[in-house]
Amino acid sequence: MGRVYRPTRARAVKPQRCTVGVDIGGTKIAVGVVATDGSVLAEKTLPTKSHTGFADGVGRIAAAVREVILESGQTKEDLLGLGIGCAGPVDPLRGEINNPHTLPGWPGAKIVPALAREFGLPVWLENDADAAALGEYYFGAGQGVDPVVMLTIGTGVGGAVIMRGGIYRGVDGEHPEIGHIPISFAGQRCYCGRSGCLESIISGPAIADAGKKFGLETAAEVFAGMAAGNAGAAAILADVQRALDAAIWTLLHTFSPARIILGGGLVDAQAEFFTAAARQAQKSAHLVARSTVDIVPARLGNRAGLVGAAGWALRRSESPGEPAVRPGHAFSLSP
Ligand SMILES: [Zn+2]
Repeated sequence: MGRVYRPTRARAVKPQRCTVGVDIGGTKIAVGVVATDGSVLAEKTLPTKSHTGFADGVGRIAAAVREVILESGQTKEDLLGLGIGCAGPVDPLRGEINNPHTLPGWPGAKIVPALAREFGLPVWLENDADAAALGEYYFGAGQGVDPVVMLTIGTGVGGAVIMRGGIYRGVDGEHPEIGHIPISFAGQRCYCGRSGCLESIISGPAIADAGKKFGLETAAEVFAGMAAGNAGAAAILADVQRALDAAIWTLLHTFSPARIILGGGLVDAQAEFFTAAARQAQKSAHLVARSTVDIVPARLGNRAGLVGAAGWALRRSESPGEPAVRPGHAFSLSP
């Protein structure tokens, strides 16, 4: 039988420069071969199952990477490196995952040296929120502008800041915790030790929790309730709107971003509501350059982390010397 032409399959693609992206979450891991224009040549998803231990996990990731390389029609020689975005806390300096919350079976997991040994390629590890923001910055809603702030609203609330082409980091490479911007002095107790944090008001579980008083079980039911004229649901979402307004105001005045991208599962489901609420803050913010700031929904959905990790590996492989990392100091983001 003759060779069947399948235009969607990557085997028809000629060898090109590409990197591997790995996006590790608490329940699943996505692995893909990504070309320099952000197109995914082949990808695969596997369950995380961190309880089976890190040796098992890294073995399954390596097997999946080998599979996607084969399926992409590329060879190992075409690969410039591997980028990993992982649910934090992670230590990008040591290439180590330390996430007792959603990856409890992988304490001190030295994933960077393990995969570097396995494939003989450079490997970089970043927080998954940073990887997703990089994905939007390189290939999605953040293209062509800088700095970019991404606010992610879903089961949790978080985000990342991309500045001068790199990841904004604090001391020791720490990741900013945008979900814990204080909104209300009298709000719900948050697990971070404070009360009234952004996350404890606008996350999916927070909205669902507030809905229970009115017989609404999920965030989706609260949104449907508001559309159906339920006064309780409308009051909950008015609070969400005010909290988001305050958070956007804070981000605008703290970072002076060129663009704020709203992402995450809840925004994907209710993009119009969240974008409109966020733009309210922008309208009255006369201390920021309003004409050059915009607020937009994310474009890459749950693929942002995968392509962002891969894009970061591409950039780092092209300029391995930066950003300079010195433990104990802020990262130097030389342009
Ligand atoms: Zn908090």
